[in-house]
Amino acid sequence: MDLLKNKVAVITGASRGIGKSIAQTFAQNGADIAVTDIVVNENTEAFENELKSLGVRAKVYQSDASDFNGCEELINKVVADFGRIDILVNNAGITKDTLMLRMTEQNWDDVLRINLKSVFNMTKAAQKIFLQQRSGSIINMSSVVGVKGNAGQANYSASKAGIIGFTKSIAIEFGSRNIRSNAIAPGFIETAMTASLNEKAIQQWRESIPLKRGGSPQDVANLALFLASDLSSYITGQVIHVDGGMVT
Ligand code: NAP
Repeated sequence: MDLLKNKVAVITGASRGIGKSIAQTFAQNGADIAVTDIVVNENTEAFENELKSLGVRAKVYQSDASDFNGCEELINKVVADFGRIDILVNNAGITKDTLMLRMTEQNWDDVLRINLKSVFNMTKAAQKIFLQQRSGSIINMSSVVGVKGNAGQANYSASKAGIIGFTKSIAIEFGSRNIRSNAIAPGFIETAMTASLNEKAIQQWRESIPLKRGGSPQDVANLALFLASDLSSYITGQVIHVDGGMVT
């Protein structure tokens, strides 16, 4: 399939997990790929080569999505290297889970800065390109816990709920310029982020899911592909769940 032929995608935090799967899926569909991560090493270099072997242009950039000026520099570099940007996937995220009684100011600030401010930073930097081109698809990685909340994740849930409000607001602001903005709300997806939970918590999550299993990064990447492509050209301002029916 060539759903994204001639399109350029920027994906943050994409050297592993969901972001990596999105980058691979977009490349398999013909997009040129600019991947960012906070750390660039031999693994990210190997990933760049893997993407190139799919016959597209690809580059991994070291960039901290929570750094406002760094995001502006990154977007300028991507435009210099690739000529345009058609798709922005704000995927980078962290957890610092603990009950509210124990949550520190640092726990709160780190999660809000990396999960939510990063989405503002990247969108702010890329908006001028989308406005000039009069097209663009912005895909923000929220979470089911941004919709329903979760004990031990007040900081993370607040960041993911903030992403939903941001996504809907810019969908309204940018709609007349053919720039779409949608959020994905994954449920329990089996990545390094969820592997850090203990086995009992993992089992409880699986049992709470109507489909009785965790999702894969590919499940999320399939929805991102749809939202990035022209198949979703009349869809904006939406939050779409990939959660096995966890939140209905
Ligand atoms: P992951 O495996 O932990 O990957 C997160 C990626 O973000 C890593 O590559 C990480 O880099 C990168 N990153 C962290 N801080 C960054 C920063 N400041 N700037 C740039 N990159 C940064 O997580 P995942 O499970 O794939 O999750 C991806 C997204 O989906 C996150 O936004 C997460 O909140 C969301 N999500 C995940 C689930 C789930 O069940 N897994 C559910 C709902 C939502 P390093 O490798 O260097 O740390």
